[in-house]
Amino acid sequence: MEWEVVIGLEIHAQLATRSKIFSGASTAYGAEPNTQACAVDLGLPGVLPVLNAEAVNMAIKFGLATGCTVAPRSVFARKNYFYPDLPKGYQISQYELPIVHGGEVLVELEDGSSKRVGLTRAHLEEDAGKSLHEGFEGVTGIDLNRAGTPLLEIVSEPDMRSAKEAVAYMRQIHSLVRYLGICDGNMQEGSFRCDANVSVRPKGQEEFGTRAELKNLNSFRFIERAINFEVERQIDVIESGGQVVQETRLYDADRNETRSMRTKEEANDYRYFPDPDLLPVEIVEADIERARAELPELPDAKRQRFMEQYALSDSDAGQLTASREVADYYEAVVEASAGEGKLAANWVIVELGGALNRSDLDIADSPVSAAQLGGMLKRIADNTISGKIAKDVFEAMWQGEGDADAIIEAKGLKQVTDTGAIEAMVDEAIAANPKQVEQYKAGKEKLLGFFVGQVMKASKGKANPAQVNELLKKRLSD
Ligand code: ADP
Ligand code: MG
Repeated sequence: MEWEVVIGLEIHAQLATRSKIFSGASTAYGAEPNTQACAVDLGLPGVLPVLNAEAVNMAIKFGLATGCTVAPRSVFARKNYFYPDLPKGYQISQYELPIVHGGEVLVELEDGSSKRVGLTRAHLEEDAGKSLHEGFEGVTGIDLNRAGTPLLEIVSEPDMRSAKEAVAYMRQIHSLVRYLGICDGNMQEGSFRCDANVSVRPKGQEEFGTRAELKNLNSFRFIERAINFEVERQIDVIESGGQVVQETRLYDADRNETRSMRTKEEANDYRYFPDPDLLPVEIVEADIERARAELPELPDAKRQRFMEQYALSDSDAGQLTASREVADYYEAVVEASAGEGKLAANWVIVELGGALNRSDLDIADSPVSAAQLGGMLKRIADNTISGKIAKDVFEAMWQGEGDADAIIEAKGLKQVTDTGAIEAMVDEAIAANPKQVEQYKAGKEKLLGFFVGQVMKASKGKANPAQVNELLKKRLSD
């Protein structure tokens, strides 16, 4: 039997507001436990929540960027459940009427093709606190700092057909919310996480299979592994005559397996009802226009512009716009290099990208600044150094030895372009290797490379390679 995998994601993006969604308490990460939850976040008797306007503005931006409909009226509801990290006994969320719905994203897959993923909805809600198990003996710690932090829950249609597609979609949303500046995307701190709904069905069958929901996946690697494990598990269950039950499962990264947490609750278990303390959210045209005016250039538009403005290939432009940080860095390099768009693309993607990868660094932590890299490209462009020597200069900049000009000066790396000096080295190489000269003249033209190597060696790599080639050819055919 051939199986088809069906996946829908619920992504939780923590909105980058300074204060909580219904109170003035700080959302800053990393404070001492239980110092940032106020009476409103705890739902103490007598308090009243007040909606944070910026959270609404951010949700509208997301809706506009994904072709969603922004609801003129949406409603906050109480989702009732008991959990130690939810002392007030309910979470304020949106249920029947979410703030935006019905958009889509085009996800680029590894093979370059793109895939449409529908967005069912995105709604505003508050986060709960955190249960802490590490460092406690026999008890669980509760930190309520996160209670009331604004979340945008982004719910996709069950449109993905493999773990890889799910990861590509998740990456795309991750990049988008950071472009929009509505979420810092920090997955380690839990600012961006997802629940993956996974089911399988016999290929060709229209009806969906029963799904399991994998909770709180907070790294791209784990999502892929968790889904793949779960798919195998479900296929095994069905093929051995059993039935998949609808349930919530937890992914254990250490063991690379999913475990049942609880059977799936139904919406009516939560006894949703409109929160009587909060007015419906009414969004008028002016709110939408304000959000639209604040939208930055989005990834697709930037990619198109990079191709036109810097004469880049689609693939280079795609890599350079995959994140806003990389795009901004690239443009700063181009500016510092006085317009070397193509050269800058190669260096940012290949040399800098490779070095960052090897050191496991983000571009924000690059030891070489955009101004430094641009300054070095200027020296390649004006023939002060060759592309080969530039790699040494780059390495020295990476090690913190200063700007390109200072390094070139200190290490004497300036390219030799003086024809007389190169000629002398060419003559020397020819005089020292009569046998090879004879063979070259007899037709073994491959030997040109040998001579180029000799001259480059004599010049310690500093002779201008184009001039060396030209002069050698001329002299050898004399
Ligand atoms: P809930 O809120 O109870 O988790 P929803 O109906 O809102 O349930 O669906 C949540 C997510 O599950 C959505 O992303 C949806 O696309 C996905 N989903 C629904 N049915 C399936 C299925 N049979 N297989 C995989 N994903 C599914
Ligand atoms: Mg769910």
